Amino acid sequence: MPEVPRPMFEIEIVPALSDNYVYIAHDAAAGATAVVDPAEAGPVLAALERRGLQLTHILNTHHHLDHIGGNAELVERYGAPVIGPRADAARIPGLDVEVGDGDSYTVGAETARVFDVPGHTSGHIAFWFEESRALFCGDTLFALGCGRMFEGTPEQFWSSLSKLRALPDDTRVYCGHEYTQSNARFALSVDPDNEALKAASRRIDELRSRGERTVPSELGEEKVANPFLRADDPAMQRLVGMEGEPPEAVFAEIRRRKDSF
Ligand code: ZN
Ligand code: FE
Repeated sequence: MPEVPRPMFEIEIVPALSDNYVYIAHDAAAGATAVVDPAEAGPVLAALERRGLQLTHILNTHHHLDHIGGNAELVERYGAPVIGPRADAARIPGLDVEVGDGDSYTVGAETARVFDVPGHTSGHIAFWFEESRALFCGDTLFALGCGRMFEGTPEQFWSSLSKLRALPDDTRVYCGHEYTQSNARFALSVDPDNEALKAASRRIDELRSRGERTVPSELGEEKVANPFLRADDPAMQRLVGMEGEPPEAVFAEIRRRKDSF
């Protein structure tokens, strides 16, 4: 019997502002086109027009302006609904559909699971599209790093990262910014002998020297190379002199070091 192809998004990465990434996820068969975290409308409009696509959904991970700044203009142009975090609803003008932990949300033929991932902001969410193996996680998890802890506690942030870490290794991490090279430098300062991290860092330097993007990364690699996902790993705890301490305390220490790196 011929195999039924599973639904898959074509995902286009649209650079915006100075270092943001906006994502256009297109399901051709279903005629659905979602944009994730439109930092600004201009580059998104240009990408959609070039491909002759009609925007059908706007997904937001959190309330920061560099993730929602293009909403209003895109709504005006396409009338697409805005889907975003229930817990950040009061801070996202024009939010149409509020979602949170345990909810699912369907775009075309694919359904995302929604996770609450507080820490960077108190209302941050992530969208996990299992069939496409695509995780849209805003400023919670970055390639080899994580977002700044603006509103949450270390307990919350660690619990959020633990949820994302539980996803399959072949998950692609579509994060909000191109911060990978500086994240790699910090990660190496903590964990200089990690072979996976050293290999990733060499690859990242090469990509950046050619002006290429380093996103998406693979979650399987993040699990072994990203220090923020390893706060419960005895080897990482030893590296920061906190063996046997609670993972949220170890996470807080690594985050603190990164803030002043
Ligand atoms: Zn942010
Ligand atoms: Fe951001």
